[in-house]
Amino acid sequence: MKKMFVWYHRFVLFLLLTRVSSTSSLSYTDNGHIDTNTGRALNQDQGDDHQIHCSRERSRAAWKIIQEYLTPFVEKEKYNISRTCRLHPDNDIYRDQEQHKSHIDINEWQCGYCKKTFYEEKHLDQHFDNRHSNLLNLNESRCLADVCGALHCDHEMNSGSKKSKCNPAAAARNKHLCEAIADSCFPVNEGPAASRLHELFLHQFCDAHSCTGSGKPFSRGRRKKTNVIYIVASIFLVMLLLLYYLYIYLYQRGLKRETQMLRRISQTGRKKKPS
Ligand SMILES: [Zn+2]
Repeated sequence: MKKMFVWYHRFVLFLLLTRVSSTSSLSYTDNGHIDTNTGRALNQDQGDDHQIHCSRERSRAAWKIIQEYLTPFVEKEKYNISRTCRLHPDNDIYRDQEQHKSHIDINEWQCGYCKKTFYEEKHLDQHFDNRHSNLLNLNESRCLADVCGALHCDHEMNSGSKKSKCNPAAAARNKHLCEAIADSCFPVNEGPAASRLHELFLHQFCDAHSCTGSGKPFSRGRRKKTNVIYIVASIFLVMLLLLYYLYIYLYQRGLKRETQMLRRISQTGRKKKPS
């Protein structure tokens, strides 16, 4: 009997161990993928990935800055940026992939090419690198992250963290790059709209490249966006307030009725007493 118990114990332990090893191997191959089978296939073809020396994250930051701090002004002037300008969408090798990203839910990112879903954006990025890197137009396109120095990507990406020391040589280099971008994207001899945008670009991005701390980046403002969350929250607050007042109103009406009832009872009681 004792021997049987020991064997049973060993069997249970064995089962538990195999269970743990299988789940851990799943979580490794899973790669954040909701579908575990495809996750495994993903890892297999990681071996032949092409090395691309262009940061996707920084390219994304640069793109965001352009959209927020430059595009509104370019649209207002109805100006068409030429393809020779480094800020043109065609000069971002990740643009097509980024446009095939859909953020369905907080923890759900979908690949627009093959419709696979992922828990996190970084896993979708990895999937793009592994599965759809053939879609990157590497011959013609340039790395948008290369203009990050001029566009203050670090300022935007590390907003909130403490400032790093200013390096005069780096600031001068970034200013030079910034002014070169202004010249190529908005040539002053191309008309009033181009020269207005040239002026704006210098103030918006280039002036802040100095260690004297005189100018701040994006001094000319950003895209005004109607925040959906803000609107929903205000509607919710108004409804809450209405409910609160309704409750108070009903409560006081109830109190009034109660006091009236009590008065009536006491009055009838008083009337009854003398008889
Ligand atoms: Zn895909």
